[in-house]
Amino acid sequence: MALQPSSQFLRIDTDIQYLKGVGPKLASVLRRRGIATVGDLIEWYPRAYEDRRAARNIASLEDGQVVSLEASVQAVKSMPLGKSHRRIYEVVLADSSGRIACKFFRVPYKGFFERFAVHERVRVAGRVTLYRGRLEFHHPDLQVVYEDDEAGGKSADQLIPIYIETEGLSSAKLRKLMQAAIGVPIVEALPAWLREKFNLSTRGEALKQIHDPPVDLAGEILHNRSPAQRRIIFEEFFWMELHMARRRLGRRNDSAPAMVKPSARVEALIAKLPFRLTGSQLKVFKEIQNDLREPRPMHRLVQGDVGSGKTLVALLASLVAKDNGFQTAMMAPTEILAEQHYKTAENFLIPLDVRVACLTGNMNARERQEIGERLADGEIDLLIGTHALIEDGVSFRNLGLAVIDEQHRFGVEQRMRLKKSISPHFLVMTATPIPRTLAMTVYGDLDVSIIDEMPPGRSPIVTKRVFSSKRDQVFQFLYEQVQKGRQAYVIYPLVEESEKIDLKNAVSEYESIQAKFPDIRVGLLHGKMKNEEKDAVMNKFRLGEIQVLVSTTVVEVGVDVPNANLMVIEHAERFGLSQLHQLRGRVGRGVHKSFCVLILGYAISEEAIHRADVIAGTTDGFKIAEADLEIRGPGEFLGRRQSGLPGFRMANLIRDMTILQEARTAARELLDRDPDLRAREHEIIRDSLAVQSKSIVG
Ligand code: ADP
Ligand code: MG
Repeated sequence: MALQPSSQFLRIDTDIQYLKGVGPKLASVLRRRGIATVGDLIEWYPRAYEDRRAARNIASLEDGQVVSLEASVQAVKSMPLGKSHRRIYEVVLADSSGRIACKFFRVPYKGFFERFAVHERVRVAGRVTLYRGRLEFHHPDLQVVYEDDEAGGKSADQLIPIYIETEGLSSAKLRKLMQAAIGVPIVEALPAWLREKFNLSTRGEALKQIHDPPVDLAGEILHNRSPAQRRIIFEEFFWMELHMARRRLGRRNDSAPAMVKPSARVEALIAKLPFRLTGSQLKVFKEIQNDLREPRPMHRLVQGDVGSGKTLVALLASLVAKDNGFQTAMMAPTEILAEQHYKTAENFLIPLDVRVACLTGNMNARERQEIGERLADGEIDLLIGTHALIEDGVSFRNLGLAVIDEQHRFGVEQRMRLKKSISPHFLVMTATPIPRTLAMTVYGDLDVSIIDEMPPGRSPIVTKRVFSSKRDQVFQFLYEQVQKGRQAYVIYPLVEESEKIDLKNAVSEYESIQAKFPDIRVGLLHGKMKNEEKDAVMNKFRLGEIQVLVSTTVVEVGVDVPNANLMVIEHAERFGLSQLHQLRGRVGRGVHKSFCVLILGYAISEEAIHRADVIAGTTDGFKIAEADLEIRGPGEFLGRRQSGLPGFRMANLIRDMTILQEARTAARELLDRDPDLRAREHEIIRDSLAVQSKSIVG
């Protein structure tokens, strides 16, 4: 029989089942959430605080307020969301002053709605939103109020932490557990000199205040500005910055080929181009050239909007490598893109006696072997391909430059794999512009160049958003454009969870357009097609044999068909801002006036309309990226997995930018003082780094 240690013997590594109030059943609920120890529990931070100092009623609510109040359930219902297969759920609340609906576009967890019986007292917390003339809550925090758990046993006129709930574990229960756990001794990793210099409280004090917030600091706490929050946020950033600072330090001794010979081929290509390079292209190419001359590897990120001419800059860089006797690898995220780059490269570089080849996943073993041999013999100068390039068995004779296109799909990991005994120079290109400050953080080990100018002669894209009731008019317009000799894209979203349904949509859309306009040649492109089929369709579209291309998002990045001047995006509400911008970038590449129409489905949120308006309002990729970041937050924006971003629990890269900068200064200062972390006071940092680096990419 296991003895329950009393709370004074609790340690952060004590198994959660020994915490007072946790039985075997609750322990397994907690473990499913990743809370296995007392330490895990106290890092389960409140998702918000509820200010109970002012009582509110429903009639007093205003648009945009973030509030909480108590009311009783009047109805729970669900209805289909427009014509789609999804449903919308509604919990209607009432008090003596009025009614308000809480809308959910998905079920938070199984059994969620079953908890809210009619007449049940609940507490709702969230943002009041005006939608079609009514105030409502969208995805608020909704909890049943039980008589005995009011504020976890504390008086009601306070600041109450709200925790994310799951089945079998209420926020109130979590508050009680926290009270039991919070007395545990906390390890302090940050040395005294650092805490003093950056004015940080101890981790122990901070954690206590996070879970047991003093009401006199309510103003600061509600705005995430209390000293306790600052301390926790600082530490989250600090670990990330320390990893980056160490990576930079570790690279100081890496060597790369210094490409000092001036390139005659660069001159020749520039002279031969049917257009002039933009000022931005020239500036960025100069920066790259300077990097390439150094005996240390370049690690440079080139950001530039879709169509700003990044590919050409990369090809110029490959010529520098060639004229210095080195090979270049160019990696694209999809086969379609790899092949398009290949065609571009052939077109520009073959006349200059550059040997170009393409390696993709759908080649057979013999073809791959042949390319492998030529590569190893140094008979290929520029190898373009998908991630097949970094698979085992592909070895270069003397790789000098690696270009990675559309970085957001590849992580640091891939860069590392291309890096062998001698590191090539790395050039990373992305059309997802991110604000410079954020780029420095996420790609903290990369130098950043920006192409912020478009080639001249591009006609601006006219963007409109419409509701699906106007669809017939949109397709009439499409028909007219095609009659004028133009081409068009019609894009359907492809969401992983319902891939089949979306696919069906794209296919039936294709059929219905073809049926409606029998004199138009319509093509279909989707991810389930074989590569040869995809290529065949893409080629026909390029050649104008297909006039309207109905496609899922496989067409998303980089595809270039100048005669296409109309982009119709169905269910635009299901795309992120950056993705919409990318898609729109497929048109406006030629001399014809271009159009992008965003069709919004039924029953969509204000937020979706707002997003469509952002797109309609600007074509500046940086502005869009900033708005996107604001809406989605950096984790989602960048795709946490790909970015190698640690999952912050409290920190927010945008909101907490100043703290981030302090954390970076602190991390660098620490390594300046003690590069190998040998000092006794840095021992805990050294040990935790060793544990962390196992779980962090790169
Ligand atoms: P990105 O990769 O940045 O989206 P691309 O390199 O695909 O852009 O360029 C888009 C198109 O613009 C290509 O057809 C390319 O040949 C052309 N282009 C590139 N630079 C210029 C320029 N300076 N002037 C005119 N057209 C250009
Ligand atoms: Mg490109």
